[in-house]
Amino acid sequence: MSEEKKIPYKIYLEEHEMPTQWYNVRADMKNKPAPLLNPGTLQPMTAEELSGVFCDELVKQELDDTTAFFDIPQEILDFYKMYRPSPLVRAYCLEKALDTPAKIYYKFEGNNTSGSHKLNSAIAQAYYAKKQGLKGVTTETGAGQWGTALSMACSYFGLDCKVYMVKCSYEQKPFRREVMRTYGANVTPSPSETTNVGRKILAAHPGTTGSLGCAISEAVEDATTHEGYRYVLGSVLAQVLLHQSIIGMETKAALDKYDITPDIIIGCAGGGSNLGGLISPFMGEKLRGEKDYRFIAVEPASCPSMTRGKYAYDFCDTGMVCPLAKMYTLGSGFIPSANHAGGLRYHGMSSILSQLYDDGLMEAVSVEQTAVFEAATKFARVEGILPAPESSHAIKVAIDEALKCKETGEEKTIVFGLTGTGYFDMVAYEKYNNGEMSDYIPTDEDLAVGFAGLPKVD
Ligand SMILES: *Cc1c(COP(=O)(O)O)cnc(C)c1O
Repeated sequence: MSEEKKIPYKIYLEEHEMPTQWYNVRADMKNKPAPLLNPGTLQPMTAEELSGVFCDELVKQELDDTTAFFDIPQEILDFYKMYRPSPLVRAYCLEKALDTPAKIYYKFEGNNTSGSHKLNSAIAQAYYAKKQGLKGVTTETGAGQWGTALSMACSYFGLDCKVYMVKCSYEQKPFRREVMRTYGANVTPSPSETTNVGRKILAAHPGTTGSLGCAISEAVEDATTHEGYRYVLGSVLAQVLLHQSIIGMETKAALDKYDITPDIIIGCAGGGSNLGGLISPFMGEKLRGEKDYRFIAVEPASCPSMTRGKYAYDFCDTGMVCPLAKMYTLGSGFIPSANHAGGLRYHGMSSILSQLYDDGLMEAVSVEQTAVFEAATKFARVEGILPAPESSHAIKVAIDEALKCKETGEEKTIVFGLTGTGYFDMVAYEKYNNGEMSDYIPTDEDLAVGFAGLPKVD
């Protein structure tokens, strides 16, 4: 029997093999990500300042760039066990369809009702809010996956959940909204008339379909003006990458179990949380000089924060109420064209991934959406899973890399993150199937508008 045959179609970990710690890649970074700054004083945000917005325990995690491992609280592990470990799947059928010598694996995070990896952090954030005795949390959601995940997590712990949903997505995905409401969340289309910042944005841009940046401003205002509420965020922040490291820890444990060493690890990048989580333990090995891997971040050509953005301090939100973060950014005023990967429309990128990218430790590519849907369709037809448009960015580049192997005859091992399912994205698939999908790539002039709004920080 060839060695390959011994590797099962799906690699699952036994319950006792499940990781019980999150890994904080910052601990192994020589160049730490730049600190969040107070937008007024331009001094690093203190724990005290942050605690008005975020839960105390999450503030600690956010500011800790030296502790390598955090024990996952038992209550969170118990919840994780309902849908984790997630399978690491060998894409035999895709390999065959591509006729490539490459070995392709994907880590599938769509096996829970919310349909994406977002639940990994939602449950952690809801847990810490509950533990602090809060009444509830507020948040924004773009594509709706984060809002859904948070609604599930809040209902599990009995917390109130207020979601500001980017208006175009609220209208395009009514069923997402209803899933959130079914789990008890209160969902408001953003920008809305219910907050000061929402009213201001509406006055300045009547008819706007909204952006993640606007929705964040509204959610933060709501949390900071209501006693017993804090704001939670589904991506970008260091704490979110920490929680999402469960993806990478499991992937590494599963690969180690069968002595598989990946050559290339690929993930889509919106705010960077799934990719950051997936690559963290592998990046740790690279940073410590133990192993080398290629890491590839894939972003939409319509919102190219890493490939065409600037590495600078910027506002995290449109209303400029949040701390400044140093990141690859298109400017907080950049509103991407209405492409169909709502989860990848954020103007900036995680400070951790931004620093790793700036240090040349990872690569980034951007892809156009029709090519992404072509890859999604190919994947669905041979592997059976209907992928989320966001996830399909990673599929596209995994296929590209596998086809390169076909040319060179190299038997590389490629691992990519399949972050979720696309059942709520059928409007987008419909457009693609009807041949009505277009690729809008911002011009340099479009981008200049966003860059002009960057704050001056020295
Ligand atoms: C939110 C989301 C993404 C992008 O967010 P990251 O923080 O970059 O991971 C990717 N895929 C799916 C399915 C999502 O819901």
